[in-house]
Amino acid sequence: MKYDYLVVGAGLFGAVFTHEAIKKGKKVLVIDKRNHIGGNIYTEENEGINVHKYGAHIFHTSDKKIWDFVNSFADFNNFINSPVAVYKDELYNLPFNMNTFSKMWNIRTPQEAKDIIASQIKDLGITEPKNLEEQALSLVGRDVYEKLIKGYTEKQWERDCKDLPAFIIKRLPLRFTYDNNYFNDRYQGIPIGGYTQIIEKLFEGADIKLGEDFFDFKEKGAFSDGFKADYDNILFTGQIDKYFDFCYGALEYRSVRFETEKLDMENYQGSAIVNYTERSVPYTRIIEHKHFEFGKQPVTIISREYSTEWHPGIEPYYPVNDDKNSALYEKYKELADKEKNVYFGGRLGQYKYYDMDKDIAAAFEMADEVL
Ligand code: UDP
Repeated sequence: MKYDYLVVGAGLFGAVFTHEAIKKGKKVLVIDKRNHIGGNIYTEENEGINVHKYGAHIFHTSDKKIWDFVNSFADFNNFINSPVAVYKDELYNLPFNMNTFSKMWNIRTPQEAKDIIASQIKDLGITEPKNLEEQALSLVGRDVYEKLIKGYTEKQWERDCKDLPAFIIKRLPLRFTYDNNYFNDRYQGIPIGGYTQIIEKLFEGADIKLGEDFFDFKEKGAFSDGFKADYDNILFTGQIDKYFDFCYGALEYRSVRFETEKLDMENYQGSAIVNYTERSVPYTRIIEHKHFEFGKQPVTIISREYSTEWHPGIEPYYPVNDDKNSALYEKYKELADKEKNVYFGGRLGQYKYYDMDKDIAAAFEMADEVL
């Protein structure tokens, strides 16, 4: 069979690109080493609950075009992410807002909160924060940093907060209003019935082969069933360093592992996400999946999320965008730019901590450029 594109990886980037390619009349073959489509936004129904198998995915964007695009493939509900943080026996609202500050310091007004933060950082002399620790301290002061950021961040990244880039903490809003919405974006929600249906629709018109590892296929020149495909271009959404056989050394990624259980109760924690910000609790957060869709099932499904360093054999989730890895990525990017008829996309192909809306925007951009 002859294809215009071989899309490696059936995740969100590959799906959006494929959809655009099919619209332009291209023939596309999609392969994925997993036995399902959707990449890490894959959801699977169990007991009437859509389980976010690879971690919580909450769609949020300020881009109307992207909001309208995703809404054309599914109905979105009005879920607003408002996680809770547990530190020892204390419970706080996230993101950092007046509810958090009021609980932390027993105060009421924004001015009181600002005064306390200012008094906690006045001796530090931070003018331009150089790393996550300085950024966090200068935004929220020492108490919030120590209780809600330091332990969580060091668990999630297994790196000292001084060695992490400041932008990671700026993902979270900081507000001096009583508003627990974790995002500042204009549009937010969860697709009713899960994410997998969106990916299925995006791939309509493409041929898909699951359980096929690109690197095995490349080595053998054929798929595991003997099928041989001919193609003019590749969209590669796997690890860019692996594509080039780690020739400059390996990029670092973080991985996550989930311990999922079904509990014989209606409501375990009263929130879709509860973060455990103490270092000594081994998991970073517990997801209770039914709450993403306001589920009323008699049982519930929870996942404890553990963060680990990536090594071959497990799934990479997060690029580690610190200076060292960013410099290494640039070297791979130079090779990628020279690779004829091969394009690199997504969190792993572009080594970027994309949210879903930014990933879709990047796929549109690539489609505009190359199709
Ligand atoms: N973070 C934190 N405490 C929390 C939640 C988040 O310190 O309770 C920090 C942590 O450094 C994390 C970053 O904020 O890596 C970004 O969090 P986000 O929820 O955006 O991460 P994601 O959901 O993408 O894993």
